[in-house]
Amino acid sequence: MNDILLLKQGEIVLKGLNRRIFEDKLVSNVRRRMAHIGNFRIYAAQSTVYVEPLDDSADMDAAFEAAKQIFGFVAVVRAAACEKDPQAIFETAKTYLAGEFAKAKSFKVESKRSDKSFPLTSIQVSQEVGGLLSDAFPDVPVDVHSPELVVNVEIREAAAYVHSVPELGAGGMPVGSCGSAVSMLSGGIDSPVSTWMAAKRGVHIIPVHFFSFPYTSELAKQKVVELARLLAPWCGRMTLEIVPFTHIQEEIRDRCPEEYFTIIMRRFMARICERIADTNRCGAIITGESLGQVASQTMQAMAVTQECVKIPVLRPLVCMDKRDIIEVARKIGTFETSILPYEDCCTVFTPRHPRTKPRLEEVIEAEAPLDIDALCEEAVANIERVVISR
Ligand code: ATP
Ligand code: MG
Repeated sequence: MNDILLLKQGEIVLKGLNRRIFEDKLVSNVRRRMAHIGNFRIYAAQSTVYVEPLDDSADMDAAFEAAKQIFGFVAVVRAAACEKDPQAIFETAKTYLAGEFAKAKSFKVESKRSDKSFPLTSIQVSQEVGGLLSDAFPDVPVDVHSPELVVNVEIREAAAYVHSVPELGAGGMPVGSCGSAVSMLSGGIDSPVSTWMAAKRGVHIIPVHFFSFPYTSELAKQKVVELARLLAPWCGRMTLEIVPFTHIQEEIRDRCPEEYFTIIMRRFMARICERIADTNRCGAIITGESLGQVASQTMQAMAVTQECVKIPVLRPLVCMDKRDIIEVARKIGTFETSILPYEDCCTVFTPRHPRTKPRLEEVIEAEAPLDIDALCEEAVANIERVVISR
């Protein structure tokens, strides 16, 4: 059987003149994703990316699962290719969908014809193939209104394709088509979700983690590496930047008023992220902040945090409830790892009474005793990089 994947392009079909750029990115993302799974011919035509196995070693089950995690497709279809002829289409449907016919109580054929030179109309194809299938499976009557099984037939340039229900694609835009951003990845529930959401909108991700050894343990670091690894099937290959943060936190503890610890710490994170962004030509910083979730996530605190950087700070979760964030975390497979009980640097030296509505002048005064540039430089110079691939 000529098993093939048809990946239906999403939003990028609405692009105008630069659509090719998006499509090329999409095809190269698919090629990279399929490279380990087998030998495929991968090409785009008619708003679809075709994934055609070149030999029997190609694992089509694995390819189909992988395709569902590639951003840029609205639907993914596993189909059988055949000659563009009703008899051949019927034979193919009979064998390829035999299992589904065995279970279904009714069926119909739905045809689409993007090859307009094909002599039969879609309706004629459906009638002819439907008639032959109905003779072949006399126990499964045709029901055009609410059939249990829909036999989809697509007549395209190169061949005809037969399949049952398409599955939902991952949606979004091809990763890398909307530039790069630094994404602040803690070990929590939220930041893997915000990272995933940014990648879904086509952003290539540079994950950054602030690590405060020995206040946070080696296990906490491994947890973040694992979270990045879980995100890699969606986000593609990434380099996780692990920033040593202990010295900065100790300096803040020793020299700043306690009620400002968190806000000052977050300003350091922003500054360091901006430096990493500059080096990696990133256009934004992504965080997992959500309005009102904790003291450092009030509007006032967010304003004071981002005041020290020029680069935009994007917060995909800003208006999402925890419950909704958890739902996404479960769906993308990061939740179980996120809830493992290791500390984060945000929970080290937490003030007993953090300021929820900090004023910028007070914060600037509170951080004045620190040599901000030198501390940032030292942290950036000692970054540890971990390449994350699937
Ligand atoms: P999460 O569940 O993602 O840990 P949170 O609700 O615990 O988030 P905070 O700890 O206040 O919230 O952090 C807010 C955001 O700041 C996180 O979502 C993440 O983007 C970033 N952040 C916090 N701690 C770190 C860290 N150690 N390294 C990198 N980013 C961090
Ligand atoms: Mg956290």
